[in-house]
Amino acid sequence: TAKSEGRNRYHFFANDMAERAQQRMEVEQGLRRALVTDALRVHYQPRVDLTSRRIVGVEALVRWQHPEHGLIFPTSFIGIAEECGLIEPLGRWVLQHACVEMRPFVAALPAGVDFHLAVNVSARQFLGSDFIAILHDVLAETGFPEQALELEITESTLQATERSLSVLHALENLGVAVSIDDFGTGYSSLSVLRDLPIQRIKIDRSFIVGLPESENQRAVVEAIVALSRAMHMSITVEGIEHAAQAEVLEKLGCQEGQGYLFSRPIPHAELLRLLASGLPPR
Ligand code: C2E
Ligand code: MG
Ligand code: MG
Ligand code: MG
Repeated sequence: TAKSEGRNRYHFFANDMAERAQQRMEVEQGLRRALVTDALRVHYQPRVDLTSRRIVGVEALVRWQHPEHGLIFPTSFIGIAEECGLIEPLGRWVLQHACVEMRPFVAALPAGVDFHLAVNVSARQFLGSDFIAILHDVLAETGFPEQALELEITESTLQATERSLSVLHALENLGVAVSIDDFGTGYSSLSVLRDLPIQRIKIDRSFIVGLPESENQRAVVEAIVALSRAMHMSITVEGIEHAAQAEVLEKLGCQEGQGYLFSRPIPHAELLRLLASGLPPR
């Protein structure tokens, strides 16, 4: 009957809730341990100039090398880390680690060659009262050149208008670039971004997945390109998997792309080999 079904469903739901609470606790405790036992890793995904097909930067993406469960991806733990406050030490660790690992490569580049290291920063981390001080410390400790660093924030970070504006201005003074990640999936509009010191838009994979066939997606990309030009921002497209996508995005005026077509996120040693050899032709 409907009633017993309802009861079962409720029961099931309660179970599920308990299980989820249990899981969250395990993730939280595991992450605390991971931070002190050196169990976190940073993988790097190349950013590619869509015209020259050269690697012009990398995005740092955190992973957790779990003693029993193997390599765990950030979608399984970043949300929990945000809720329990672990995102601040975790975010600092990623920033520090990526700057240490990438500094020798960046420092050895000939003058005039641009290369950027992009690091994801969650809203809670970005809006935290000591974020700029931490960033300052990391840059000083690692010697990473600030003009080669880019922070990826999401549209939700910009909702704390006054606080985010003051952090953005501090970053501008520091010479650190900012990009809007997953652009188009949140609620901000390009007109809001116009007045902010933001240098780049990252178009989310969901907006290009139907290319080159989708007329609709083509029109949306065209509109974003036109507006980004008017605002002197550049574009990186996320999640490019097919050569035909890369081709049409380049024709539409997007400068940079990332995606499995070029490379998956890879460990640092593998990245160094790729940077030395260059990408195979696609
Ligand atoms: P994101 O910053 O938008 O990163 C892009 C995600 O898309 C990455 O997943 C990447 O591996 C994946 N990806 C790249 N190319 C392709 C492709 O061609 N096809 C498909 N289907 N996927 C592709 P990943 O590494 O699992 O990271 C997921 C999210 O976790 C990131 O999304 C970011 O929001 C968050 N994240 C990762 N590392 C950090 C970090 O250090 N701090 C914070 N706060 N968040 C992080
Ligand atoms: Mg990102
Ligand atoms: Mg993204
Ligand atoms: Mg995305």
